[in-house]
Amino acid sequence: RAREIAARLGYRVFAAGGVVRDILLKAGNLDIDLVVEGDGIALAEALAGAYGAQVRAHHKFGTAEVLFPDGFKVDVATARVEFYEYPAALPRVESSCVRHDLYRRDFTINAMAVDLNGEHFGDLIDFFGGRQDLQQGLIRVLYNLSFIEDPIRLLRAVRFEQRYGFKIEPQTLKLAQEAVRREVLARVSPERLWEELKHILMEEKAGRMLERLHQLGMWPFAFPGVTYWEVQPVLHDLGESMQLLEEWGFPPGNEPWLCYFIAALHWTDPETVRSLCERYHLNKRQTGKVLATLANWRLVLSRLCLRDGARTSELVRTLLLLPPEAHPLILTLMDEEWLKERFRQLLVLLRESKPTVDGTYIKSLGYRPGPIFRRALDAVWQARLDGLVKNSDEEKAFVQE
Ligand code: ATP
Repeated sequence: RAREIAARLGYRVFAAGGVVRDILLKAGNLDIDLVVEGDGIALAEALAGAYGAQVRAHHKFGTAEVLFPDGFKVDVATARVEFYEYPAALPRVESSCVRHDLYRRDFTINAMAVDLNGEHFGDLIDFFGGRQDLQQGLIRVLYNLSFIEDPIRLLRAVRFEQRYGFKIEPQTLKLAQEAVRREVLARVSPERLWEELKHILMEEKAGRMLERLHQLGMWPFAFPGVTYWEVQPVLHDLGESMQLLEEWGFPPGNEPWLCYFIAALHWTDPETVRSLCERYHLNKRQTGKVLATLANWRLVLSRLCLRDGARTSELVRTLLLLPPEAHPLILTLMDEEWLKERFRQLLVLLRESKPTVDGTYIKSLGYRPGPIFRRALDAVWQARLDGLVKNSDEEKAFVQE
């Protein structure tokens, strides 16, 4: 549809960047980037109008996001060339507009486009050898100053390298090492660093990516004050634990990056951790989860390890000392099968052992709402966990007692 609208408006339009890379790799990609030789914002608005979508326009940059009701997103950029200098009627110059846009990109594999116009529909535009690098599995910058110009590309190189199991091309690796040595990452704002770091922490192979950041000397810029080797084994295995928890029916919640963040910091002193949470603007709730884990993971682990004499209710309550995002960490730290199985059973109980009596029942006994409600409900819950009451009638009798 973008193609029809572009033709109507007299613009040329291309799909560019990650979507082209992922089509060639036959990998899924939900984001579409369009580059428009013309007014990108006007195209975005026309596209949104045709589908009842929303537009978020950034006039200063000539870019816009089209947000479709089903969550699908299209980014539209205006190829940055002054159009009165380069009339759109001249095909040779037109393609130099998209070339200009592609040249600003990070790596050859991300700097390809697909022509969406008329008879050229579907043609691959590949000025920098991106397709060949994709075939050979290489991450290559477009020019020598790329990392100096935008140091965040150092982290992106690692992310794409590990995500696709590629290699950073030797000359690019040299440039990266030199940029790291010159401490270019110290110039990046924490906000931008965090944006990219969070992308890494949400990747399936986040553990390997963090290891690579360490190998290439970037870790101290990402996690200042945190010693990598202390958390290395846990980060290495965390992905597996997250997968296991998912198989058990306990996915990591809607902030999966927090699992890695927590694991990366669990061995660090609270002061450093607090300042890192501030630096990356974690909100109060997220910071609370990180600090609660820091304060309690050793205790939780040692209690769960108790072989005899531990009441189920006590164990379940112990688990409540940790946020769910710390579960992958705890599971990773467990090295015995019986312990993992106990952990699984406790998680099931935590989720499923809600008592059937509630405040309404206590009220019906003539009590007025107050602290006694919580105490009574808590006591029933514990009794249920310890098998002292088994059904609703027994719960009611227990409350009356
Ligand atoms: P992902 O699958 O992680 O979304 P992506 O390539 O789509 O990968 P985005 O961060 O959405 O990643 O970037 C879209 C495109 O914008 C990239 O493919 C790349 O061409 C370009 N790009 C993004 N960040 C930079 C950067 N720092 N420097 C140069 N080009 C960039």
